[in-house]
Amino acid sequence: MHNTNPIITEQMSEPADIKSMTKPELTAFLARLGEKPFRAGQIFKWLHQRQVRSFEEMTDISKDLRNVLQKTAQLTVIKSVEVQISKQDGTRKYLFALPDGHMIESVLMKYKHGNSVCISSQAGCRMACRFCASAIGGLVRSLHPSEMLEQIYRIGQDIGERISNVVVMGTGEPLDNYDNLLRFLELLSDEHGLHISQRSITVSTCGLVPQIRALADRKLQITLALSLHAPSQEKRLLLMPVAAKYDLAQVMEACDYYFATTGRRMTFEYSLVHGVNDTEEDAEQLCALLGNKNCHVNLIPVNPVRERSFRQPDMNTTMRFKNKLEKNKINVTIRREMGRDIDGACGQLRKKYGH
Ligand code: SAH
Repeated sequence: MHNTNPIITEQMSEPADIKSMTKPELTAFLARLGEKPFRAGQIFKWLHQRQVRSFEEMTDISKDLRNVLQKTAQLTVIKSVEVQISKQDGTRKYLFALPDGHMIESVLMKYKHGNSVCISSQAGCRMACRFCASAIGGLVRSLHPSEMLEQIYRIGQDIGERISNVVVMGTGEPLDNYDNLLRFLELLSDEHGLHISQRSITVSTCGLVPQIRALADRKLQITLALSLHAPSQEKRLLLMPVAAKYDLAQVMEACDYYFATTGRRMTFEYSLVHGVNDTEEDAEQLCALLGNKNCHVNLIPVNPVRERSFRQPDMNTTMRFKNKLEKNKINVTIRREMGRDIDGACGQLRKKYGH
């Protein structure tokens, strides 16, 4: 998918992050160590299927090569620091420590159709959406592909079940970590890795226009979700500072381009905030904006964040909003709230630890 690898080229003198390497890159890396291509296949499986935590566990690799790898390569593993388990629906919220000690959150949701993991793409975020807890401390750093994969691998091992769906909807703006995201998607869907179908992967963005267009040109089969949250540029700007950089008209054009290029129906996320974007007029404007598109709308009653005063609309208002969209033949669902009892909006577990 890629030829340039910033991680590997930048860190030539440091141990290489081999869990972030695609199969051809791993083959080239091992060739430099004098190893034959089939070794790459073996090691790739240890990394991405058996998901071992150390080179020692790679038992069909010679001791000599394991020693060389120990010195030249880094095997990125993240550590679970805390797990909160919902008594209501089995949702699990994980706090993980990255190798450098920064903390991130991931969530496991158990559905009838399978297990879905929501991962973080960055530690912190620089998009500063007003209602979002992850935005409060700003961006710490972007995650490497290995660190994004690890969230899924560790959760799969913890529950001892297959993960069938992945949503990149945790902390961070995935398209602000674009190259690493692409590499992550390639590794996640590799047939010799976890082999998650691209159609079972959703990436959510606040609307970075050039990256949406670039992603469209890749023609992947993933679902792209746009965090819309308002039916007009004016209102969107009140909630999302990114709207000052890319206005609503540009964002919607990029979404149309994504659908036209990939054939994948867009999802629009709309967090309902009491008295801000939940009126009859808002619903009408939203119908006008989306009316002729083949898309799906996800309504999310806003998750109150301790540091902010935003509140959810009551159920009647939410249902009225939904009905209006349905009358206009727009596919719409209200997102089921998972793990209410372990709540606190996304990003708050991490904040509790001062990160
Ligand atoms: N940066 C990406 C993905 C991370 S946020 C994006 O903006 O899409 C995942 C989703 O949760 C986004 O739609 C985001 O707007 C929404 N979100 C963040 N905080 C929320 C809150 N307190 N209540 C409801 N939705 C929230």
